[in-house]
Amino acid sequence: MIIDAHCDLLYQLWKYDYDVNSSEFLQFDLTKWRNSPVRVQAFAIFVPSSVPSDQQYDVALKMIDLFFEKIIIPNPDIIHIKTKTDLENLQPNQLGAMLTLEGCHPIGMNLNKLTKMIDYGVRMVGLTWNNNNAVADSIMSAKREGITAFGQEVIQLLNQESIWIDVSHLSIKGFYDVINQADHVIASHSNAFTICQHPRNLDDYQIKALIERDGLIGLTFVPEFTKASASVEIADLFTHIDHFITIGALNHLGFGSDFDGITETIMGLSSVTDYASLQDQLIKRYSQSTINKISYQNFLKKFPRTK
Ligand SMILES: [Zn+2]
Repeated sequence: MIIDAHCDLLYQLWKYDYDVNSSEFLQFDLTKWRNSPVRVQAFAIFVPSSVPSDQQYDVALKMIDLFFEKIIIPNPDIIHIKTKTDLENLQPNQLGAMLTLEGCHPIGMNLNKLTKMIDYGVRMVGLTWNNNNAVADSIMSAKREGITAFGQEVIQLLNQESIWIDVSHLSIKGFYDVINQADHVIASHSNAFTICQHPRNLDDYQIKALIERDGLIGLTFVPEFTKASASVEIADLFTHIDHFITIGALNHLGFGSDFDGITETIMGLSSVTDYASLQDQLIKRYSQSTINKISYQNFLKKFPRTK
């Protein structure tokens, strides 16, 4: 069983109207999902910054519509995960689907818009994508300020509602503001900076801070976050896993593939079905207890919302 903390299927469905059941253009579709070891998938609402700001919230709502119309309603075996109990009650013949937000830009400076998204089931909120917004600056921008006054209201709301605050994409200053203020922290799709020097990865101080706050880190399959090389292999992910474990993150590691958010893929890991190959290789290298922790137990244990 695997729980995956990040994919961008909703964005692909919104942008291209691909067939959710099966499409050669999708790294994650329902057929591939059913043929994979992934039991629970987080689906990100990701509104590209090219959408004019006065239309971004409508696009976010449209992606929520797609989540229900294409994934939840037509498929009785797919359960909308809103609480830890939903996760624990998931039956062997069922799949779990969770809504997340990647970047707070669609809410502008309106807290009610975020409340509404939480009402629809959003359970993990990334404060920024690669663009700056009213909440905070991104790690990918030249201006790297931390959490704004409005951002502090956002964090307060997310704490009250027991929602995971996602620090992937966030500026370093923003990261430590969240570490100081958030009740529940996750980096849903980031690797280790010591192993691959990409700004989207977490340095050792950040990893240790996340461990201290009982956070979760989703190992991601973005090739350029894994190895600075033209060809990246599944084994290159193990270098990251080993490093995370060496600095004490065994109980804080999970997966956040970023399928359908990436155009290049790791060799042998080009769609969600290839999680089976990853599993085969994990079994040769790590104990079953380590694999279980990374695959689902850590996520399950730390999922913040109980009711
Ligand atoms: Zn992302």
